[in-house]
Amino acid sequence: MSSNSFRVMKFGGSSVGSPRRLRQVIELIGKHSRTGPLAVVVSAMGDTTDWLLEAADLATRGELEGSLTVVARIAHLAKTNAAALHPAQSTTLAARVDQLLAPLQQLLQGISLTRECSPASKDKVLAFGEVISATLLAELLKAAGTDAHFRDARLLLVTDDTFGTARVDVSRTRERLQVAITEWGASLPIIPGFIAATLDGRTTTLGRNGSDYTAALVAQGVGASEVTVWTDVLGLHTADPDLVSDAYPVAHLTHGEGLELAAVGVRMLHPRTMIPLIEAGISLRIRNTMHPDHPGTLIDAIGSRDGQRPTCIATREDLALLGIEVRKLSDQFQLGERALAALRAARVTVWMTAQSANGQSIALVVPRPDAPRARNALETELAQELARREVEPLGVREPVTLVTLVAEAMGHGVNVAGRFFSALGAVGVGVRASAQGASSRSISCVVDAEDTAIAVRTTHAAFNLAHQQVSLFVLGKGTVGGQLLAQLRTQQEQLRQRHGIALRVVGIADSRRTLFDSTGLALDGIEEQLARVVRGEPGTRALAPLLDELRRLPVPILVDCTADGDVASLYTEAFRRGIHVVAANKKPLALPWNEREALLAEARHHHVAYHYETTVASSLPVIDTLANLVRTGDTVRLITASLSGSVGFICNELTSGVPLSTAVRTARERGFTESDPREDLSGADVARKALILARELGLSLSLADVALEPFVPEPSDAGDSPESYLRSLRALDAEYTQKVERCKQSGTVLRYLARIDPTRLGTDAPVIRVGLTAVEAGQPAADLRGSESFVSFTTTRHSEFPLTVRGAGAGGAVTASGVLADILRVSQTLRGR
Ligand code: ASP
Ligand code: MG
Repeated sequence: MSSNSFRVMKFGGSSVGSPRRLRQVIELIGKHSRTGPLAVVVSAMGDTTDWLLEAADLATRGELEGSLTVVARIAHLAKTNAAALHPAQSTTLAARVDQLLAPLQQLLQGISLTRECSPASKDKVLAFGEVISATLLAELLKAAGTDAHFRDARLLLVTDDTFGTARVDVSRTRERLQVAITEWGASLPIIPGFIAATLDGRTTTLGRNGSDYTAALVAQGVGASEVTVWTDVLGLHTADPDLVSDAYPVAHLTHGEGLELAAVGVRMLHPRTMIPLIEAGISLRIRNTMHPDHPGTLIDAIGSRDGQRPTCIATREDLALLGIEVRKLSDQFQLGERALAALRAARVTVWMTAQSANGQSIALVVPRPDAPRARNALETELAQELARREVEPLGVREPVTLVTLVAEAMGHGVNVAGRFFSALGAVGVGVRASAQGASSRSISCVVDAEDTAIAVRTTHAAFNLAHQQVSLFVLGKGTVGGQLLAQLRTQQEQLRQRHGIALRVVGIADSRRTLFDSTGLALDGIEEQLARVVRGEPGTRALAPLLDELRRLPVPILVDCTADGDVASLYTEAFRRGIHVVAANKKPLALPWNEREALLAEARHHHVAYHYETTVASSLPVIDTLANLVRTGDTVRLITASLSGSVGFICNELTSGVPLSTAVRTARERGFTESDPREDLSGADVARKALILARELGLSLSLADVALEPFVPEPSDAGDSPESYLRSLRALDAEYTQKVERCKQSGTVLRYLARIDPTRLGTDAPVIRVGLTAVEAGQPAADLRGSESFVSFTTTRHSEFPLTVRGAGAGGAVTASGVLADILRVSQTLRGR
């Protein structure tokens, strides 16, 4: 920046609203005024403009006393600020304030007498706010050693007489400013924002928040190179920080991006401010008075060259969506043009229009308070067509929010619209209307107001965050659930850093109690936290209301680590809300065929994942391998599998001479069996897994179709408790020792295997058989160690050497790691970029 070119700095109402902020502003101005020519534009202090409006209103209603009380409030704020900064001159400055406000009191008296406040009078009233703050600021700067002077904007900015929103005569304004700079000399001009005057000197205003516009006009008029708008935020953010805690300030934008953001309603920018800057090639900086060293946001002709630059999500709330639809296909009667013209005539701002390609239907987005007026205007315009029923009655949807994604490079980016809409779809946000302008710098959509936060958070994350957030609701904290929580605790940080995935546990439920916190639960001391839960309805049914909260979070996943037989309806509720399910629970997959099919169909229908790799052979990739075989057109001829880690372990113990009852006890102690070992020893668990596998092949079989020989038939005196069952097993010790002996003599090993033979379909022989088998030494199933599981697939392509998956297939930690892998699979599929 050349040292002789002007800079303009604008300070908003909050920057001069309190002694603390005002002190920073005076320091800042002092510092910057020494480095080159500067002009300062300032707004009214704090809420002064709102108060002036209030005073005018009261006066119009004849309530002069109330009106003057409001003036006293304005005076008090100004005096307090001035006195705090310059105590030595507090009396002089207070007198100055009173002197400035005297004409306002007369004006309000006049208004209260006539009970009439014309737009011209209102502008006169409003002007006092900026006049007081600019006058005081100049005085305070002088006192602090900066040569500053109040320069009345009404002598500089020339407008027409549209009071309230006056239109600026740009060339006359420039002429006046060019003369003014020669008169200012070395002294620093302090110019009130927002106000101006007609050629014949009547006070006007530029519309609410007009001081930025003043700054842009002054910059254009004096030939400045840069305008800095000092505010209370760190710059323009990637999204409204009130809605998205991860939003961050953008360093560098183009003028075009700035204009686009202004046009879609970003509070900090207004199109009328951007236009003079763009025309004159002036750059705009947005900076924070409280952090004067932070660079803030720079908006200029060049913008950022960074390919990875952020994308901004702008939101405009409190809008209404009006829909017009033509009934007859042939007749379009320039629907779009006529509707827009009618709204223009009714002075309704249209935030977005979207028209179907054939012109049959049109969506218009307007401020919600204007919706009735807009509707009237449209109904009047289309009265004939409505009467002839050529047009459907107007539909109004409110409140809605306009969400817009803005990025300069968007036109060059691949599939921006696809990512935008799929991010919204993934969290179940319905898009009510959408539009992409020819500038291809932005794409907008309308969502229901209640979906605003989730829509903004989701799209912001999809485009800007290095890590993807995933929200988990974990059911069951027994062997598997407990291990999962432990693994999450230790791996969370690494997953975030290395893989860009931020896993957040928002809910944990056991059979009796539920913890839920949408901001995330601390994973330490879960037990203590659960113990503190007082309320809590038992049963998974009570969880359904929480799903409504879960669905609003990024990538919501219900993680079922229970063995609950009654969860299918909960899954369905989850799927319907766009929630993914990752389950180690086999029961829903072993339901009658129709019910299982309905469950899977529901997940497909709602485009959500249902992963259950750990239901067969724990974390071993069995389901996935089988799915790939089937998907790629291979034909499975036979599946042989040892599907129970616990029974496998017991077989090995038996082979090495351990009695049955001892082997079962050891297996249980090591956590290989279900808590009731009967589940394993009866073969019910293996039968279920075999059924799950067979069904993956598309075979519509049910549990009743499994030819099941129990590994150990239940002794008659087994009793109810696991302990009495274990004791009763002693009676069978001898029998099993004999079985093992017989095997040894014939050179075989005792195994408990599942066989799925699809070629038997339609014959009398069972397709699924589960039972004790003497396996010849050398066969893969013969030399399984410990609790190893194995599954071998004989297929058309893998006929000579079956495709075999083998490894540790039991235990809480292994299963939990498989569950975690399924969770990561969900988030990776969603990323897909
Ligand atoms: N004081 C005026 C308002 O509050 C102008 C501004 O702040 O920019 O609207
Ligand atoms: Mg303001």
